[in-house]
Amino acid sequence: MSTHKPRIGVLAIQGDYAAHAAALAEAGAEPSLVKTPEDLRLNGHSLDGLVLPGGESSTMLKFLESRGLFEPLEKFCAQKPVFGTCAGAILLARKVRNPAQRSLGALDAVVERNAYGRQIDSSIVTAPTKLPGEALEMVFIRAPRIVESGPGVETLAERDGFPTLVRQGPVLAATFHPELSTDRRVHKLFVEIVTQSWAAASKKLE
Ligand code: GLN
Repeated sequence: MSTHKPRIGVLAIQGDYAAHAAALAEAGAEPSLVKTPEDLRLNGHSLDGLVLPGGESSTMLKFLESRGLFEPLEKFCAQKPVFGTCAGAILLARKVRNPAQRSLGALDAVVERNAYGRQIDSSIVTAPTKLPGEALEMVFIRAPRIVESGPGVETLAERDGFPTLVRQGPVLAATFHPELSTDRRVHKLFVEIVTQSWAAASKKLE
């Protein structure tokens, strides 16, 4: 068995990246913070995967553009597993609404920002999931909604009939904050996706 610990970056521009780094470590990965394009590599090698945390996607986008990170991230998303939560899911989408803004286009989905209105903009919902085990606790904070998704996108959990956790091959996205719950199933799934993709890539090199 491989002893390789997946090295997963966490975009650390703004938002709750520290909680993600801790959750990734708990799920068996070696997290590292990404603040510059150079941080997408560690000791000369590309990171094995990347998490885009929650926060304010418009602010994050401005930083990505001003720090020259947008294009390197676009490339990274096309080659390696990525996981976006809340604002991170907005950044990964093919199209963003309410209002429209630029995005990385890694996930074949249309995402509407701040979709739950003012009164119920933050809430905790427990709902059934396709992940193994019991129902999943989902913490929503001014959450977006996935209003359209392509045929390659699998829904793993929902709220009010709209997907809240989706997977498209090596791309995972949640409209909630799994790092704020104690359940580590979602981070573990991402670590598994990263490990499988790393193993498949090293097999190709043999
Ligand atoms: N409302 C934020 C946005 O539109 C997302 C909120 C979050 O990440 N918790 O970017």
